[in-house]
Amino acid sequence: MTRATRVLVLNSGSSSVKYQLIDMADGARLAAGLVERIGEGAVPDHAAALDSVAEALGAAGMGLDSPDLAAIGHRAVHGGTRFTAPTLITDEVVQAMRELIPLAPLHNPANITGIEVARKLRPDLPQVAVFDTAFHAAMPESAARYAIDTATADRWSVRRYGFHGTSHQYVSRRTAELLGKSPESVNVIVLHLGNGASASAVAGGVCVDTSMGLTPLEGLVMGTRSGDLDPAVLLHLHRVGGLSVDEIDDLLNRRSGLVGLCGDNDMREIDRRIAVGDQRARLAFDIYIHRLRKYVGAYYAVLGRVDAVVFTAGVGENAVSVRVAAMSGLEALGIELDRTLNAARSREPRLVSGAGSRVAVAVVPTDEELEIAGQTFGLIENAQER
Ligand code: AMP
Repeated sequence: MTRATRVLVLNSGSSSVKYQLIDMADGARLAAGLVERIGEGAVPDHAAALDSVAEALGAAGMGLDSPDLAAIGHRAVHGGTRFTAPTLITDEVVQAMRELIPLAPLHNPANITGIEVARKLRPDLPQVAVFDTAFHAAMPESAARYAIDTATADRWSVRRYGFHGTSHQYVSRRTAELLGKSPESVNVIVLHLGNGASASAVAGGVCVDTSMGLTPLEGLVMGTRSGDLDPAVLLHLHRVGGLSVDEIDDLLNRRSGLVGLCGDNDMREIDRRIAVGDQRARLAFDIYIHRLRKYVGAYYAVLGRVDAVVFTAGVGENAVSVRVAAMSGLEALGIELDRTLNAARSREPRLVSGAGSRVAVAVVPTDEELEIAGQTFGLIENAQER
């Protein structure tokens, strides 16, 4: 009998389910899709959404009952301090994920619902949760703790968890490959710049710092999130401005960042507005870049020696202007961008630094689904060998 090598990756959000079927024998993507607007009309709930995923796969001859299917890998957002590696899902794991809901009230419930429905459909199949926080669990306490009263922090699980971990892990490893080196031998600053954005410092394949914290709100300027601010801003808005906690939550998560600064969160539109002299768009861009450069400098110091700075996700992979602005004037740090290489369009991992640049600058498209499939398959393979 041939060995089952296919992994179905499910990313269950509050109103959508994304899926990809990947063959780990060769990394081939056999199917991919998105079921949207869960809760509205045609797709009343996650069960209906997964039914339609199963139907689409079945129609393509790759149904959930196929003997080629080795496992299902679920994207899970918050693993707290409990889940620091891909985890085979059991009733007990689902219960522990439920206990983590207060840390990710928007994401974890949807992840859990997706897992429960998938387990009902295929109770016999190994299912694995891959957590967005896991890669960052290796951060030293000096980077993971906020400087607040320790007992209060511990009582409420307040610490820096970090997110986009699957992407940071995948991209840092691919960057080492691009440099022709082992992950253990390189230090990398990863800039994951999408609508959400985070930076990480990865030393020899291990995350030593990242810009997101207790929630994905900390750190870089994002599409709609503020990133870092003086925590007293919240107190001021509440006490003096009279804003409620929910209003402040909405302000910082949905009406801040690029959209709050200039009304647009799409970097293409901001580029276009800057080109025609729009000052609000210019300032939004400058604030975004200023913050980004501060993190590059900070992580340079955290790592001591840097082999590569790597850009990924929607903005990082595509916005030529952002890479130019973020990397300019850093020759003294050994960072020199090659303007021609940087301007060339490609979907492949590539170097965009000049031949004389001591630090490589790279663009590496992220692939969280492939990483989830790989970690899922790795876990069940190991389990079978033992
Ligand atoms: P992500 O969250 O990784 O899907 O990234 C989405 C963001 O990438 C969008 O909001 C845009 O700001 C940005 N983006 C996508 N394509 C381009 C492009 N061609 N040029 C500049 N920015 C882009």
